[in-house]
Amino acid sequence: MRADVDRDACISCGLCVSICPDVFEMDDEDISTVIVDPIPEEFEDCAKEAAEECPTNAITVE
Ligand code: SF4
Repeated sequence: MRADVDRDACISCGLCVSICPDVFEMDDEDISTVIVDPIPEEFEDCAKEAAEECPTNAITVE
């Protein structure tokens, strides 16, 4: 599984990092970025949850 963040859609709320800090991190511009590719199996559930909870649907998981 891979995750992707639409940088234009991210509003820097930090929710994905709170939900799944092993997959998402805020970068220098305070935009969420994916730090693992592919996502290790043990973090897939939290990555999916982050995608579902993102207020702007900026996260895609596939
Ligand atoms: S939850 Fe969505 S809007 Fe919030 S920081 Fe993460 S990607 Fe950006």
